[in-house]
Amino acid sequence: MHTLVRECFTGIPEIVESLARKEGGNARKLASAVARGRVVIPANPAREHRLCGIGEGCTVKVNVNIGTSGERCDESLEVAKAKTALSNGADTLMDLSTGGDLPSIRRKILEMDVPVGTVPVYEAVRRAGNAADVDSDLLFSVIREHCRDGVDFLTLHCGVNKDALAALYSDPRIMSVVSRGGAFHVAMMSGRDEENPLFSEFDYLMEILAEYEVVASLGDGMRPGCIQDADRHAKTVEYLNLGRLANRALDAGVQRMIEGPGHLPIEQIGYNVRIIKELSNDAPLYLLGPLVTDIAPGYDHVVSAIGGAVACMHGADFLCMVSPSEHLALPLTDDIAEGTRVARIAAHIGDLVRSPDGFRMPREIRMAEARKRLDWKEQFSLALFGEYAQKIHERDGELDTCSMCGDLCAVKMVREIFEKRES
Ligand code: SF4
Repeated sequence: MHTLVRECFTGIPEIVESLARKEGGNARKLASAVARGRVVIPANPAREHRLCGIGEGCTVKVNVNIGTSGERCDESLEVAKAKTALSNGADTLMDLSTGGDLPSIRRKILEMDVPVGTVPVYEAVRRAGNAADVDSDLLFSVIREHCRDGVDFLTLHCGVNKDALAALYSDPRIMSVVSRGGAFHVAMMSGRDEENPLFSEFDYLMEILAEYEVVASLGDGMRPGCIQDADRHAKTVEYLNLGRLANRALDAGVQRMIEGPGHLPIEQIGYNVRIIKELSNDAPLYLLGPLVTDIAPGYDHVVSAIGGAVACMHGADFLCMVSPSEHLALPLTDDIAEGTRVARIAAHIGDLVRSPDGFRMPREIRMAEARKRLDWKEQFSLALFGEYAQKIHERDGELDTCSMCGDLCAVKMVREIFEKRES
């Protein structure tokens, strides 16, 4: 079947040329990275939106999850959250809705000008009534529907198989399973005493994705739900599964990335990123977290950004926004704004490591120089969130320095000494 991966083996498709221009990279190198599965370009041909490349040679991207739940189901709120995410720097959106008219909400989110992802098993469970009643026919028909609607990437928990489940039972964890999709698959497999159809019918799944040119985001259903669970076996078995499946997906001409790895102690992040990359032949890595402590609810966006920045330093490519409401409630618009900004900062720190200029990125240098000159206008124009910075600076009036040290401004004092020396 004709797919982007296969096209990239023999030439440079137009979409790759356009993305290379956007990313400021070399189109030939980018096409080679797509062919080798090191970059994905989520772009379902059924829809048009701005281009986004994820992986080697691309900037770190940020995804924002939105979506209703059974407890709070307001389509207009989700659209407002999607717009807020985009205005604060999100590169992609995922619609994780589980309440209300799911196809209608999805189609509204698909009107946004970015790649959109979904988790089809959520809708399958809603349609069946409960997870144990989801059979392979239902699951695959929902997957096909999402592809047909124009969804660009699908989270598919293919690695939650009988081996991973056996590891979960033989090496128990405090939090057992915290991934919603992971839990649904565990319930399906246990309730029906069958293998996960996304694992046992993986080749058929890849045929569907290849037909619609949809990216497989191989989900981390066994991700640890607290840092105490980080080194237990289920996650490791899932890594092995995902690595093998990633290679099979590429052989089938399907673009794919790997999701991982939940909650991790900060010192284990580098090892986890490297092992996933090694097992998957450097597939793009999409991070949920990692959250590096479990005792800061309300600030989990910060906890996740710390883990995300460290993970990017070791090679992660794509950060999923965590909002201040994580582990507490369905996020509202303000939570989305705050979480997206913090994730954007973590992504920028990742870019400082992976860009050719490194930390000598011109924008960073210009900011330091503007600070030295106490050039506030230039500082706000260079800042990631300049309007916000300006609001804080001006709350004590429009000062030459800032109100932190005021007339004892160290920068001003030393600058004047240097100026005198030079005159
Ligand atoms: S007043 Fe203090 S904090 Fe503000 S710019 Fe000068 S040295 Fe920096």
